[in-house]
Amino acid sequence: MKRQAIYPGTFDPLTFGHLDIIKRASKVFDKVLVAVARNPYKKPLFSLEERLAMVKKATENMTNVTVEAFDRLIIDYAKQKKINVIIRGLRMISDFEYEFQMALTNRRLSKSVETLFMMPSEEYAYLSSKLLKEAASLKADIKKFVPLFVAKKLQKRFQHRKER
Ligand code: ADP
Repeated sequence: MKRQAIYPGTFDPLTFGHLDIIKRASKVFDKVLVAVARNPYKKPLFSLEERLAMVKKATENMTNVTVEAFDRLIIDYAKQKKINVIIRGLRMISDFEYEFQMALTNRRLSKSVETLFMMPSEEYAYLSSKLLKEAASLKADIKKFVPLFVAKKLQKRFQHRKER
């Protein structure tokens, strides 16, 4: 049987931290499904279609990685896909409480789905999409943290915002 895992997130936008986790997961599992959440509560900067396109483009050379959008409970989506492992990335201790709560809530919702945590390379351990957006809005050079095409998209987005 093929070992499969699902890596859900908002990816607003995709960073090298996310990509680091995707690469690590793709070495451990036969197939990795990156699931881009619509997540309207988070009021994403990029539309679902834009976020989906970004993740697809950045992973196009990874043969065992697929990317899809989802708009429901992750547990239900995982079950529909017949995948029983959820991957989450863990950065600093600050991620821990939220991730712990979510993993245990998901476990109560479904005993058959297990959450596994992976740590990124140290250089991405402080990187978050939220901080990046703030930095980009203040015209910081963010090319070290995201693929070049994402950096360009971010720069453009904030240029337009300023012009409005
Ligand atoms: P969500 O809204 O589901 O938290 P995110 O896109 O913010 O979506 O994050 C998706 C997952 O990737 C989460 O498990 C998060 O902790 C992890 N993640 C985000 N940034 C990094 C990073 N720099 N290194 C490792 N994991 C990360």
